[in-house]
Amino acid sequence: MDFSPVGRVCSFCGLVGTKDTRFAGGLGAMMCLDCLDYYHSTFSSKRGTQSIAHPPWDEMNDAEMLGKLPLIAMTADQVNRFLYDWVQLIRERKLSWAHIGKAMGISRQAAWERFGRSVTTKTGEPA
Ligand SMILES: [Zn+2]
Repeated sequence: MDFSPVGRVCSFCGLVGTKDTRFAGGLGAMMCLDCLDYYHSTFSSKRGTQSIAHPPWDEMNDAEMLGKLPLIAMTADQVNRFLYDWVQLIRERKLSWAHIGKAMGISRQAAWERFGRSVTTKTGEPA
């Protein structure tokens, strides 16, 4: 699995990683250091936690709602690619499709159909 930050995206602000970027997080969801500082600061005070106690979309206008779509889609794609990479790591450990299916609450066949070809081709996307 590629562990490089290059081309990865901060799931919170959309910052695209370079070789010098450091991300926190994992499992496909990433957080850049600026966002980490912001959320650390926010969650470190009672006033900060109260300021985020309601859904942010309640105060967003339509343009702001639409403007979040690309970031959400990029994050979803990144997490999905990570899922395929993770399954590949599991397959490299010689664990069976039955094990993967059971872990995901799906059949062996469904696991293979979802991940089998991508694991074989290493494209990160289903064929
Ligand atoms: Zn960020």
